[in-house]
Amino acid sequence: TIDPNSDAAIAAGIEPRPIEEISGRLGVPLEALYRYGPYKAKIDLGFAGQAAAKADGRLILVTAINPTPAGEGKTTTTIGLGDALSRIGKSVAIALREPSLGPVFGSKGGATGGGHAQIVPMQDINLHFTGDFHAITAAHNLLAAAIDNHIYWGNALDIDARRINWRRVVDLNDRALRSVIVGLGGPGNGFPREDGFDITVASEVMAIFCLARSLEDLEERLGRMVVAQNRARQPITAAHLKVTGAMTALLRDAFQPNLVQTLEGTPALVHGGPFANIAHGCNSVIATRAALGLADYVVTEAGFGADLGAEKFLDIKCRQAGLTPRAVVIVATVRALKMHGGVAQKDLGPENVEAVARGTGNLVRHIENMKAFGLPAVVAINRFTSDTSAEIAAIEAACAAVGASVHLCAHWAEGSAGAVALAEEVVRLADGTSHFQTLYDNDLSLAGKIETIATRIYRAGSVAIEPGALKKLGEFEAMGYGGLPVCMAKTPYSFSADPSRRGTPEGFVLPIREVRLSAGAGFVVALAGEVMTMPGLPSHPAAENIFVDDTGFIGGVF
Ligand code: ADP
Ligand code: MG
Repeated sequence: TIDPNSDAAIAAGIEPRPIEEISGRLGVPLEALYRYGPYKAKIDLGFAGQAAAKADGRLILVTAINPTPAGEGKTTTTIGLGDALSRIGKSVAIALREPSLGPVFGSKGGATGGGHAQIVPMQDINLHFTGDFHAITAAHNLLAAAIDNHIYWGNALDIDARRINWRRVVDLNDRALRSVIVGLGGPGNGFPREDGFDITVASEVMAIFCLARSLEDLEERLGRMVVAQNRARQPITAAHLKVTGAMTALLRDAFQPNLVQTLEGTPALVHGGPFANIAHGCNSVIATRAALGLADYVVTEAGFGADLGAEKFLDIKCRQAGLTPRAVVIVATVRALKMHGGVAQKDLGPENVEAVARGTGNLVRHIENMKAFGLPAVVAINRFTSDTSAEIAAIEAACAAVGASVHLCAHWAEGSAGAVALAEEVVRLADGTSHFQTLYDNDLSLAGKIETIATRIYRAGSVAIEPGALKKLGEFEAMGYGGLPVCMAKTPYSFSADPSRRGTPEGFVLPIREVRLSAGAGFVVALAGEVMTMPGLPSHPAAENIFVDDTGFIGGVF
């Protein structure tokens, strides 16, 4: 049976407009529209490239406080704000990531918003969509096959089979694939070696796909990826394996931005979806820049809370893509602030005004951090039905005390009507002059960049980089990669590296256990703790509730 209040049922209750009408709003001519059925399309790369070169709209970032595992509503708010901007008569486009099948079938669910703030067709977008992730999976695995094939045919590059760091990928949560042995079964099958799988969204190909400015840039970046070492410990790159042309061919169609719509008909470019830990966690540069060329206001999202997502959006994506955001929306929820105020996950339901008030320190710190980037910020309280007016008043009081503007938003329950005040404030902020600056300069040392992020954004007292990691940073600098930005991989639940330290921890030591070079993506990953690049499924995954009825309706996707 279909729950009438489910996201899928709400979406099914609205008749989407033909995609030609949505593209028409953005001025995309029909010749530049490649339709995937009546409600999905890709935008021709030539046309998208021209729009991306213009990119003169106002960019608004939606980020959040440190979240609970359920998510605090950044995607939902990005969609609701986009609809509210349309409602007040603005030309607007939304730019979002494509969902991964891992969370869709796992516990978090998809990434198409919720309630009355959704993009549609939600089942299609959350499942195969236009096949982009399959193309990225194939491109990644072609390179993996090329490495083993090269060794099989004599290993002219002298690849050290113990030092291959290019694993295989699949876009599912499957813990059994984390470590595998490949090449078993006799001499005809190659040389047995230890390998493993990551989820597709963790692939460096995904990060490159989302940072490349053009197909040429995409191919060059693919070629720069370091996939192994030879026995003299020199880097072997993808270019050495000579398959980057074929990889680019696999990615050519996928690289065209996808166009869909919200429940209210606002255009949404949904394209690319890198992990927010070992990668930068936001949709493709080509989609963001094209959206800015096609609409006056563009609302986009960065994964996790502002300490990770916004910092990486600003220091990696905006730096590389030459983007100047105009305003930031920080999403806060009563339940997450309650948690930052010391309440356990299972007790977040009942009213607890004191805990919410205590927890607002976390929000205030994120507001201050956005000022460090020179950006004006507004707080959006994403209202849940269980919130009480006294709890909401506690958040408003904390914002008033630091002079931050704050709006209670009900887009999840009401659609655009619930976020009009937020939209008006966002227009006011985005129409002002931007004083955006990145947090650090390219020429700061890699360790210096890590320390700057840790002390200024996380409020760590110091950073403890493991000796092995420090040595590697020196090697990366010697190889000429010292000018790259740093991509922090840390728990999203705390400013510190310890997920149980909610609220406003400060003066702690941030441990950096490992560093990795993503030479093609163009950043150095610094890992402050364990990062799972192949997640597992929970005991009762969402997949158990997904079904197709006899009309072909897919239920249970959320
Ligand atoms: P994020 O992008 O921050 O991870 P999402 O927007 O994806 O968060 O929301 C996480 C989940 O919470 C989704 O399933 C969404 O439908 C749900 N959700 C968001 N806002 C609300 C709300 N105000 N009331 C109830 N559920 C909500
Ligand atoms: Mg999201």
